[in-house]
Amino acid sequence: MKKILFIVLLSGFSQITKAQSAKEKVKVLSTDTVKKVLEIDPVCKMKVKTEKAIQFIYDKKTYYFCSESCKKAFSATPEKYIKK
Ligand SMILES: [Zn+2]
Repeated sequence: MKKILFIVLLSGFSQITKAQSAKEKVKVLSTDTVKKVLEIDPVCKMKVKTEKAIQFIYDKKTYYFCSESCKKAFSATPEKYIKK
């Protein structure tokens, strides 16, 4: 009788583990979403996080820069950095 109870507990435990691994997958997915928040600095080609980057709106489009000097370089001659 005790043995049966033990098996029930074990199978219950493995179900919990499965549920946890499903949660882990969700975490991985959300990490991918965070990666999409990276933009390329058109001046130095560095990847910058949009939330921390310096923004500059030109021609109705937002560009992101790693530093103030990159933004200045871009704002001086935007055509130089935009591919058309
Ligand atoms: Zn830069």
